[in-house]
Amino acid sequence: VNVKGKVILSKLVVSTVIIVFWEYINRNPEVDDSSAQKSWWFPSWFNNGKRRDRRKEDDTTELRLWDWFNPKKRPEVVRVTRWKAPVVWKGTYNKAILGNYYAKQKITVGLTAFAIGRYIEHYLEEFITPADRYFMVGHKVIFYIMVDDVSKVLFLELGPLHSLKVFEVKPENRWQHISMMLVKIIGEHILAHIQHEVDFLFCMDVDQVFQDNFGVKTLGQSVAQLQPWWYKERQKESAAYIPFGQGDFYYHTAIFGGTPIQVLNITQECFKGILLEKKNDIEAEWHDESHLNKYFLLDKPSKILSLEYCWDYHISLPSDIKTVKRSWQTKEYNLVRNII
Ligand code: UDP
Ligand code: MN
Repeated sequence: VNVKGKVILSKLVVSTVIIVFWEYINRNPEVDDSSAQKSWWFPSWFNNGKRRDRRKEDDTTELRLWDWFNPKKRPEVVRVTRWKAPVVWKGTYNKAILGNYYAKQKITVGLTAFAIGRYIEHYLEEFITPADRYFMVGHKVIFYIMVDDVSKVLFLELGPLHSLKVFEVKPENRWQHISMMLVKIIGEHILAHIQHEVDFLFCMDVDQVFQDNFGVKTLGQSVAQLQPWWYKERQKESAAYIPFGQGDFYYHTAIFGGTPIQVLNITQECFKGILLEKKNDIEAEWHDESHLNKYFLLDKPSKILSLEYCWDYHISLPSDIKTVKRSWQTKEYNLVRNII
């Protein structure tokens, strides 16, 4: 090799070392990369959600996690999982960047909720009116409301970007828990129409109330919600008990979501589990919630919503929770559940 060749070679080596060093010092220290398979210098691993085909190519470039997420702001709480999914807490996200990004994408977000039997008169209005005010403000929203009696649904006026589609579903008496058959119905509706109508879909319980903005920072490929009763404290005697280090988190069925195809997958897998148990005449301790937890244990959510997104005020509010986006209504099973 001549002298010129050696100079070029040493320049190449020096610049490679500089690039690798630069990427190394700039990687996020919050992320435990012990399981990262040495992939930390590829920014692509924290891409949060693939773009849908129906969006135009020139919309924007892909938004990366660290463009909007700053876990350093909340050092006292768990905000990045082992598999590098963000846990969204107040203060960890940049609202303006996210709002702009999704506005350019012109997204539509769907929200399903069921009101079967007395849940219609007891909860539906208190679900929809605050949802209209706080859910995905400034973006197109379609509420998919499944009821067993359309004539009982009141006319509710919604904001200009919001629309409501009401469907009549037949409650099946043979189901001990209505919640178990919901996943089947959600899956059928995603296949029949929802997949063509929205970019992201959330499925929520009707017996909880929006209290504050529930916006685009909650969107992702597959989104799970932490269950407030399982925060920090875990009861050993409970059947759902997962020792620390074995499970990830205990997730709540009252909120889950993602892209329609991902939600379809979640609901189909949960339904398969439910059917299998029915065949064997057993039932998971926490019904559909056990199946959802099993699903997310195997196929990790890409985003987790902190307890701020679904809190039960019957538990005294810990200081970690700075704002409550959605809260539980008091359980009144005696009033609402006695017809089926
Ligand atoms: N649900 C319903 N009618 C019923 C039971 C359940 O519409 O008789 C729906 C409703 O959307 C409810 C969800 O199923 O939010 C889950 O049931 P519930 O909230 O009673 O269960 P929990 O949250 O107490 O586990
Ligand atoms: Mn509920």
